[in-house]
Amino acid sequence: MDDAISRYKQELRGVGLRATSGRVAVLRALENSPHATAETVFTLIRGDLPGTSTQAVYMVLNDLTRTGLIRRFEPAGSAALYERRIGDNHHHLVCDECGVVRDVDCVVGRAPCLTPPDDTGFRVREAEVTFWGLCERCQANPVDAGPVFSG
Ligand SMILES: [Zn+2]
Ligand SMILES: [Zn+2]
Repeated sequence: MDDAISRYKQELRGVGLRATSGRVAVLRALENSPHATAETVFTLIRGDLPGTSTQAVYMVLNDLTRTGLIRRFEPAGSAALYERRIGDNHHHLVCDECGVVRDVDCVVGRAPCLTPPDDTGFRVREAEVTFWGLCERCQANPVDAGPVFSG
């Protein structure tokens, strides 16, 4: 068994989840393909897990998100994206044109790195920052580039 798989199993047990092959497969898929949608994850793992379904993938993604092993990020107008990079309060750059998503480090490092004015009465847990703009490729090919599905 390779090291990554035993590491995933340990992580799953560490948060009180059974180390099922489906959960291990989803963790592995997200390690290799960050910011993947549930559909993408399904496509990535179904070769290894012939019996799986999108419904099963959604359930696994929910369990992993709830227990903090993956992070869910939902840019406006997009399906929810999932990633393994957790716990560093990083932010995202999203391209208006092609939808490509990049990680950008949080300058402060821990949440919440931005705070609203003091008079809201809220105890703020987290600030989720999404930077919208054009990626280098879409800046270079403004008009007929068309959508690029690079995930
Ligand atoms: Zn772009
Ligand atoms: Zn990210």
